[in-house]
Amino acid sequence: MGKIKFYKTESIPLELHKVRIVQKLNLVPIERRLAALYEGGFNTFQLSTKDVFLDMLTDSGTNAMSDNQLAAMMQADDAYAGSQSFYRLQTAVEEVLGKKYFLPVHQGRAAENIISNTFIKKGDVIPMNYHFTTALAHITQYGGRIAELLCDDALVIKSENPFKGNIDIDKLIACIEENGKENVPFIRMEASTNLIGGQPFSISNLMDVRRVADKYGIMLVLDASLIGENAYLIKQREKEWQENTMADIMKMMTNLADLVYFSARKLSSSRGGGICTNRRDLYLKMEALVPLFEGFLTYGGMSIREIEAMAVGLRETLDEDMISQSPDFIKYLVHELDSKGVPVVMPAGVLGCHLDAMQICSHVPQSEYQAGALAAAFYLISGIRGMERGSISNQRDEAGNETWADMELLRLAVPRRVFTLSQIKYVADRMLWLYDHREMIGGLKFTYEPSVLRFFMGKLAPTSDWPEKMMAKFRRDFQDSL
Ligand SMILES: *Cc1c(COP(=O)(O)O)cnc(C)c1O
Repeated sequence: MGKIKFYKTESIPLELHKVRIVQKLNLVPIERRLAALYEGGFNTFQLSTKDVFLDMLTDSGTNAMSDNQLAAMMQADDAYAGSQSFYRLQTAVEEVLGKKYFLPVHQGRAAENIISNTFIKKGDVIPMNYHFTTALAHITQYGGRIAELLCDDALVIKSENPFKGNIDIDKLIACIEENGKENVPFIRMEASTNLIGGQPFSISNLMDVRRVADKYGIMLVLDASLIGENAYLIKQREKEWQENTMADIMKMMTNLADLVYFSARKLSSSRGGGICTNRRDLYLKMEALVPLFEGFLTYGGMSIREIEAMAVGLRETLDEDMISQSPDFIKYLVHELDSKGVPVVMPAGVLGCHLDAMQICSHVPQSEYQAGALAAAFYLISGIRGMERGSISNQRDEAGNETWADMELLRLAVPRRVFTLSQIKYVADRMLWLYDHREMIGGLKFTYEPSVLRFFMGKLAPTSDWPEKMMAKFRRDFQDSL
């Protein structure tokens, strides 16, 4: 499908859908937002949506559903075993991801649990382009460790590398040689590398990974949670694939992997996940764990209605008009901010816009959680909830020391077909105000710090009265509390 061209204007990310069901939003006054921050320990995960205007925390389970998905949910065949809904999903998985054996799970991390449980032994090393929080937690849970083998410029904020999610092939070979192939149960490639700013890998890189995997007889596992967006950026950025359809590109990606798993919360619907493969031996090794951890093999902990939505949603990822909406809005927002000098991860990736808190809050020490502070400050002045992706999202090491993140990012997620362009313009406008007043952002310290996944439950407090001062300045500048 060709993109619509505009006369005299720069490109406008046009919505190729109409809104037919709406949900009212509230923008509560800044005084209430400040109180909500204190109640939630300056952790945006702890905010209640009644206090949130635009929820840009995550794309997980928040993408808009289509009319066809909702219609399919009405046809659900409720059955513990042998549900027709499951077979419809299995057919969709085979059509879209090209794999005939399918194990349903309740969400992406459950797939990671089953894969790690089955294939990892103590002391193993899992090479990957980059980790995702839950993947890392499961790999270490079963005694493995990870080796992140990104190319050198992947962590450079402003880069022109179209494929920052590529794995470095020389580092991959060195890692396998060093650890011995018997201690490398699989190579993990994550589509649209979530934690480094939603950055894709190329098909040619994945082909190189496949060659290495074949040479050493190692499995290749693809985390396909964001495969649609990665495929879309391949079509945009990798010359050899520009004439191909989304279906061709996605099939090519999954054909190169032995095992594909995904979180359906990102990929296709609002819950669920799955593991699929064409290798019966791999399927049989994992099969028994589904009834053990998830539920029977024909529902895997999902509701049957969700399974129907997933089947339709999977096919919809092949529709370029649908899949392009979020990346195109992100590109718009990234360029809007970059053109005014705000440091954002470039090139624009998928999933959301990622701001560099290390630069924006360079006056705040990393030990006072720059990205967490930026997230709190941005909520305060806008009512917009983003997510810290920095050191708070890391865990302490075994000795109890902080493990400082490579990047301190504030992620503003742009779920599919949820926001309008005027809302995106509001995001940019408030961020420009905050950037101009960045010196006013202060640090945070933990007041309650759980040892596992602290970014979810942890509570923090400001290190001074900077939020109060910022509120006062905001009220003066806008002559208002909204
Ligand atoms: C969200 C996500 C997961 C985990 O999926 P859940 O459904 O949240 O458990 C795994 N990998 C990637 C790349 C993700 O984005």
